[in-house]
Amino acid sequence: MSIPVIKNEIVTVEIVGLTHEGEGVGRVDGFTLFVRGALSGERVQAKVLKVKKQYGYAKLLELLEASPDRVSAPCDIYNQCGGCQLQHMSYEAQLRWKRQHVVDNLQRIGKLQVAGADGQGVNAGAGRAEQSGIRVHDTLGMTDPWRYRNKAQVPVGMSDAGFGGSAVPSRAKGARQAERSAAADGELIAGFYAQGSHRIIDMDRCLIQDERNDAVVRLVKQIGRRLGITAYDEQSGRGLLRHVVVRTGYVSGEMMVVLVTNGSRIPQVEQWIEGIRAELPAVTSIVQNVNKKNTNVIFGDETRVLWGQEVIYDELDGIRFAISARSFYQVNPQQTVALYRKAVEYAGLTGTENVIDAYCGIGTISLFLARQAGQVYGVEIVPEAIEDAKRNAALNGIDNATFEAGPAEVVIPRWRQEGNKPDVIVVDPPRKGCDNELLETILAMQPERVVYVSCNPSTLARDLRVLEDGGYRTVEVQPVDMFPHTTHVECCVLLVRD
Ligand code: SAH
Repeated sequence: MSIPVIKNEIVTVEIVGLTHEGEGVGRVDGFTLFVRGALSGERVQAKVLKVKKQYGYAKLLELLEASPDRVSAPCDIYNQCGGCQLQHMSYEAQLRWKRQHVVDNLQRIGKLQVAGADGQGVNAGAGRAEQSGIRVHDTLGMTDPWRYRNKAQVPVGMSDAGFGGSAVPSRAKGARQAERSAAADGELIAGFYAQGSHRIIDMDRCLIQDERNDAVVRLVKQIGRRLGITAYDEQSGRGLLRHVVVRTGYVSGEMMVVLVTNGSRIPQVEQWIEGIRAELPAVTSIVQNVNKKNTNVIFGDETRVLWGQEVIYDELDGIRFAISARSFYQVNPQQTVALYRKAVEYAGLTGTENVIDAYCGIGTISLFLARQAGQVYGVEIVPEAIEDAKRNAALNGIDNATFEAGPAEVVIPRWRQEGNKPDVIVVDPPRKGCDNELLETILAMQPERVVYVSCNPSTLARDLRVLEDGGYRTVEVQPVDMFPHTTHVECCVLLVRD
């Protein structure tokens, strides 16, 4: 087929869907153009930016017909910042889109049958024992989907390309000039990366961030400017401050500030500490992490307390957790409680069960499970997280949960050999999903139930296929909106042995 558009041409595009990154999928005479910021059902005028053989990219110029789902994004820097992708879509539409995204993955990748989708199966009525297909519930959303994040991880840079700025793509220069009003050249800036780049957009507030975190980031930036601190530059490997990481305990209100630096020494470190403490009494922990590597990974190996405690404490559903600088801890505390409660519900515990929690982090789900199980075994690859998990169990007087550090796909097969017979296995893997060795071991151990908590619908669908082929039936899926205004969706899934 000949390509009906050329670069720089202005065309009218019909938007027929959204990619999993939230970009509009458009058609011009059957040719696919991706248009960021456009919504399904819209007709837009767009300028063609790039043309490849099968598809191209275009920039949204004007809305000719707007979707009823369109809202105006409340954030000032939404169009430049890469942090959120869906602020221009109403929250109800986001929740619908996320459910559909899950359904699409289950069908396309998992080759699974979804109840009520595409005329297959039935809509599960209450009390119906047999239904054909998996029941995918409506996405569990937030009542107030703003200011939900308890953690900010903000890259630091300089306001001018001369020292700190990374290479700026030419078409972004105009926007860059406009957004630089606040910071003078050569001044410390902190904010998120622009979409698809490492160019930092200076930010004073982030609408999905706890306001207390915003205040800390602003203050650290101010102190840094006052003390003449340099920002790390990816290109040259020079400069001191790389990231500011802030965590706030949702219930406790305790705050931790982590300065990630490209070098051990922080000049005038006492003034940093005093400045933070004077302005923000809620800060109970100030920590330095040293990362001298040329990498996108935020944290380095060396962490030391500059002032206060090594951890902050927070509470989820009445269970207390100690959280250290580098531990994984879900960023949306309200939705985390909803997610974990769902995992416990799906585990179907009566008080006697033997439960394995794989990829347990600091033992969060494990301790929720332990309240209603006989015995819980948690496994996690990061040794520090396992230390935290043990400490957290003790902190809550929970004595029926034990933890072991190591890869789940190595430790659980060994537990099997040692005679561990779980009634329920819970898995909560990172984005890449479960290791195949682990899935095979689950099949061999034959627990009555498997509860799969997933942050990535495509690897979830892939793994469900393996479990289905091995004799498990996927019963229901609860999508949970842990990250409103972004394209991420979390799922809790119940499988039973057929
Ligand atoms: N269930 C926890 C953590 C989930 S995040 C919570 O909800 O807080 C996924 C966790 O898997 C991370 O803590 C990560 O360190 C861990 N992990 C990654 N690969 C692993 C592996 N192969 N074996 C065990 N744990 C692993």
